Amino acid sequence: MIKLINSEEFSHFLRINRNEIIKRWMNKSEVQNVLHRHSLPIIDKNTHLFYQFCDCYISVIEWRASISECQIKIDFLQLLNNYNVTTADLFTLIMKLKNAIEQVIYENGNLSFALQSEIDSLTLQMGNDLATNFEAIISSNKNYKSENSNLLTEYKKAVDLSNIVSKTNPKGVITYVNDKFCEISGYTREELVGKPHNIIRHPDMAREAFKELWDTIKAKKSWNGIVTNMKKDGSQYIVDTTVIPILDVDGDVVEYIAIRHDITELEETKQQLRNINKAMKNKVDELYSMTNTLEEKAFRDNLTGIKNRENFEDIFTIEIDNAKASNVPLSLIIFDVDHFKMINDTYGHQAGDIILVEMVKLIEKNIKNGDIFARWGGEEFVILARQTEIIGATNLAENIRKIVEAYKFSYVEKNVTLSFGIAQLIAEDTKKSLFEKADGALYEAKKNGRNRVEIY
Ligand code: GH3
Ligand code: MG
Ligand code: MG
Repeated sequence: MIKLINSEEFSHFLRINRNEIIKRWMNKSEVQNVLHRHSLPIIDKNTHLFYQFCDCYISVIEWRASISECQIKIDFLQLLNNYNVTTADLFTLIMKLKNAIEQVIYENGNLSFALQSEIDSLTLQMGNDLATNFEAIISSNKNYKSENSNLLTEYKKAVDLSNIVSKTNPKGVITYVNDKFCEISGYTREELVGKPHNIIRHPDMAREAFKELWDTIKAKKSWNGIVTNMKKDGSQYIVDTTVIPILDVDGDVVEYIAIRHDITELEETKQQLRNINKAMKNKVDELYSMTNTLEEKAFRDNLTGIKNRENFEDIFTIEIDNAKASNVPLSLIIFDVDHFKMINDTYGHQAGDIILVEMVKLIEKNIKNGDIFARWGGEEFVILARQTEIIGATNLAENIRKIVEAYKFSYVEKNVTLSFGIAQLIAEDTKKSLFEKADGALYEAKKNGRNRVEIY
C-alpha cells in the first residue's frame, strides 16, 4: 500500500505507471466505443498520438506544464477532427483518462484529498482549453461546419457561458465582449467596445510577451499563454488565454477571438505551494544541521571540546589496523596532570576545570594536524601520533611537557606539570596491549618523580 501525499511522490508514481495507465485508458469500453463509432483506426501513428497526449495530460496534472505548453494537443485534436469525433466524445476521452489514472492509483494505494482536488480542477481547466482549441479546428473545417452548424451554435453558446470571450479587429480594437469579460474586468460593455485591447493590460506584463503574441497571430496561427490583466480598480487577474485569428476566404485576418479562463486562484495556490515547499526545505535543512551538531556533540568532550574517549577508541582501532596493514609507525602518548587533586583542593574545582581547558588549548596549538588528541578521562589525556616512531613521540611529549611547565595558568600561582608514558606499536600489539604499555610507562614517570617522560 502506498500513500501519495506530495506532488513529488505523485509524479514519480505517474511516471513509472505510465504504460499501465495508457493500456487501461485505451481498453476502456467508452474509449473503444468512441474509436469504433468514428472508425478511428489505432495504427502506430495514431497510437503514438494517444501516448503523447497521455504524457501531456500527466504533465499537466502534476503541474510540470500548463496545457498551453503542450504542443501535441493540436495534432491530437486534428486527428480527432479528421475522424469527425465530437466535443462530447473528446470530453469522454479526457474523463476516461482521468479515470484510468485514478484506478491505477487506488489499486496501489491512495491519494490525498489535496491531490485529488488538484486532478479534478486541472482536468476541468484542460477540458475547457481543449474544447476551445477543438472549436477553432472545427470552425476552420468548412465541411464540418455546414454539416454540424447546429451543434456548433450550441457549442459556441457553451464556450461563451463558461469562458471570458472578446473579439477585436485586426488592429486590436475591441469589437465584442461577453458578460464574463465585463464581470471580471469591472468595465461595462460600453467602456470596452471601441477601445484598444491594451486597456486591460497590466503594467507588470513584459512587452516581449505581447510581441510574441502578436507575431504569432499576425502569422495566422493561434496563440496560447498565461496573461496577467488589470481590472478597472487596478487589481490583477490571471487568465489562461487562447487567441485565434479568423480568416476570410482569401486567407486574410478579419478578426481575432480571444478566449480565456480565470486561473487567478490556481496561480495563487501554486505560489502558496511553492512558498510552503521552500519553507519546508528550509526546515529540513535546519533539522539536518541540528542532527549534525548533535552527532558532533556525542563525539566531543563537554569540558574541553576535544575528542572524547568513545570517539578516540573507535579511531584507535582503525589507526592500529591501518598502521599494521601499511607498515607505518604509530606511537601512543598518555599523560596525566601531576597532583591535580591538590590543585583542586587548594584553588577549587572550577579553577581545576579552567586549567584543563587552558591546557588543552595550549597543547592543541603544539601538535600536528594528523595527531589524534583526546581526553581519556579525568585529568588524563592521550595523543595518537601517526607515522611517528618512538623518538618523534618522545620529542613531542618533551615539547608539551616544557611548554605546560612554563605556562602561567589563571588562578594558580604554582606551575602545573604533566607526566608522560609512551609506547610504539609493534606487530604483535593489540589495542589493549599498546595502551597497557604506555600506561605502564606513565606509572613509571609518576614513580620516578613526575614532570617527566618515560618510554616503555
Ligand atoms: P597524580 O600526580 O598521581 O596524578 O595525582 P593526582 O592528584 O593528579 O591524582 P588523583 O587520581 O589522585 O586525582 C585526580 C583528580 O583529578 C581527582 C579528581 O577530582 C580530579 N578531576 C578529575 N576530573 C576533573 C575535572 O574535570 N575537573 C576538575 N576540576 N578536576 C577533575
Ligand atoms: Mg593526576
Ligand atoms: Mg589521574
